[in-house]
Amino acid sequence: MVTPAPAEVFTQLKQHFSARASVTYRLMGRNAVEAAASGCRVELSDGRTPLDFGAYAVGLLGHRPPEVVEAVREQLDRMTISTRILANPTTARAAAALAGHFADAYPARPALPRVYFGLNGSDAVEVATKLARLVTGRPRILAVTGAYHGKSLGALALTHHPGFRAGLEDSLPATTHLSPDDPDAVDRECRRGDVAALVFEPVQGEYGVRPLPTEVLAAWCRSAREHGAVVIADEIQTGLRRCGEPSLALAQGLPVDALLLGKPLGGGVMPLSAMLCTEALYQPLEDNPSMHTATFSGHPLSCATVPAALATVERHAERGRAVEAAVRDGLTGLAERHAALVHEVRGQGLLWALELRDEALLGQAVQALAKRGLLVSPCVSSPTTLRLLPPIVATDAEVAEALEILDAVLGALAPKP
Ligand code: PMP
Repeated sequence: MVTPAPAEVFTQLKQHFSARASVTYRLMGRNAVEAAASGCRVELSDGRTPLDFGAYAVGLLGHRPPEVVEAVREQLDRMTISTRILANPTTARAAAALAGHFADAYPARPALPRVYFGLNGSDAVEVATKLARLVTGRPRILAVTGAYHGKSLGALALTHHPGFRAGLEDSLPATTHLSPDDPDAVDRECRRGDVAALVFEPVQGEYGVRPLPTEVLAAWCRSAREHGAVVIADEIQTGLRRCGEPSLALAQGLPVDALLLGKPLGGGVMPLSAMLCTEALYQPLEDNPSMHTATFSGHPLSCATVPAALATVERHAERGRAVEAAVRDGLTGLAERHAALVHEVRGQGLLWALELRDEALLGQAVQALAKRGLLVSPCVSSPTTLRLLPPIVATDAEVAEALEILDAVLGALAPKP
């Protein structure tokens, strides 16, 4: 396919999507559009090849990782959709690979053998919270202040940011947001007898890469379990070694009934999310498999990625630790050098945040970074956080280049004496 003239793309976006989005894309790309991508780089229509350390956490393996592309290509040549009245081996193999992956990584943890596949993270949130309500017979969900779990109505109820909920509050199912400063909150809420589940992100990615205190999570999970509520770990952003571990919640020994994955699960090639859960939580679907279905759930092209994506992530685990160390050192140095702009550095693994001192700086920084050749993702619920999501496959030279660009941009934004 020949990339169309950028002007045509911007006109189409303006006419058929959003005029505001079109203007933002034009500014970010300086009139260029995406043309191709490979590894850590995107190729633009004007020939520039910026580094992609963003992609909203999908590009853990970079763009078009060869093993994953090959798996999809093979499936593409064989069968792309499922009849849905016959068994599909690619979907079954993906579920077995995923459940086996976590059973092998955490043999001492509660078994999560049952799987539901969605296409977006919010699909996984929807099914988990629906099952929790069905097995407990209770309506209310406990989430955390600052939480981000998606924007479909069920998931939006758990997402805390008022800007996303505006005009919809009355349409959202019952949810209470708890402060992570309150270790007794789950016990107190559960005593009212109507709590179906506790849902949390071990690190709140969209809220500015903020880890929840392990001891508070442990107390909350213990209370939820004591009161018969379901514990759901949303690792759509943090899982699959984005934060070093296959699952932070399982690594922390939390008694999880459901683990949610998404973003890089399709290898950065296909859309895919999953809920892994216990036998008990899955029971309504065991009793009636049609109680929660979607036409493309278990889509063979998406599911074809899973064994290759998991194997490729594991093969790069050591590399990920090296990238983490280089990014940690680099960002710490940057924060010291640019203390007038940077308030704090937070992060672990391949999920990092520079907390800027004011909101106006963020837009300027993201745009200036793109101009100099580094794409990053802002955080959708934290307007002062510059988020850096280095791929696990990044080379030393690519990490060094990203840090140099950041240094130059922060230097240029610094108030002049
Ligand atoms: N949960 C978490 C932790 C997320 O970070 C996101 C997306 N940023 C979602 C759920 C929703 O995923 P999606 O946008 O794919 O629906």
